[in-house]
Amino acid sequence: MRIVLLGAPGAGKGTQAHILQQELNIPTLSTGDIFRKAIADKTEVGLAAKDYMDDGNLVPDEIVVSVVCERISQDDCKNGFILDGFPRTVKQAEELNKMMSADNIKLDYIINIDVNDEEIIRRQGGRLMAVKSGKIYHKNFNPPKVAGKCDVTGEDLIQREDDKEDVVRHRLNVYHEQTKPVEDYYKSHGNFLNINGIQDVNKVTQDILAGLKQL
Ligand code: ADP
Ligand code: AMP
Repeated sequence: MRIVLLGAPGAGKGTQAHILQQELNIPTLSTGDIFRKAIADKTEVGLAAKDYMDDGNLVPDEIVVSVVCERISQDDCKNGFILDGFPRTVKQAEELNKMMSADNIKLDYIINIDVNDEEIIRRQGGRLMAVKSGKIYHKNFNPPKVAGKCDVTGEDLIQREDDKEDVVRHRLNVYHEQTKPVEDYYKSHGNFLNINGIQDVNKVTQDILAGLKQL
């Protein structure tokens, strides 16, 4: 099964991707995670992406597309994948379409997690991340069992640099200008599922799984 998760930054894509990859037994490809790892490893891609990410801007399409193209051609993606945070521009969506057509595959579902701007600001202010496990928490809405520690690995949780309030607001503007049109692009392509993201994490997962069965 091949799935795209759409939604504003902070809508809960990463949180749901983590749960769905276990439920559906397919890997998650998070472009944000790929770039954060590239920055930590000081690779060429990481160096190219860093300033854009720090400022809350999108990394240029050519860089993102080549990273995704390489990743989806790997063996673990043969039976499907969940794309989290890609595509974020109509150009990226068109390039994904080309990549997949060349391999004779297609997207099965596009899931849009719908959350309003006020809630986005509230969520990102309290987001905490475990770098190794990739698990995502929130100080109040989705707290770890032990404050500041990952439930799975026990590692220290961090706040992302780009979760500071002014950067969050800028990322939200970028979303409305550049990513929101991707929704319309996919609405006309069928298999589009709109999910109310302002419900607790488990209910959002239930709605997604129920929606996948229905379509
Ligand atoms: P995205 O991947 O779309 O940027 P995340 O999955 O990182 O979003 O979630 C952003 C923040 O909101 C995190 O702190 C996460 O714990 C929290 N969160 C995710 N889903 C929900 C939800 N349904 N209700 C409340 N908080 C949530
Ligand atoms: P995320 O972890 O999905 O919130 O992404 C963090 C940052 O990585 C974004 O603010 C962008 O700077 C960059 N990024 C991630 N995915 C993309 C993408 N598909 N296109 C452009 N930039 C991206």
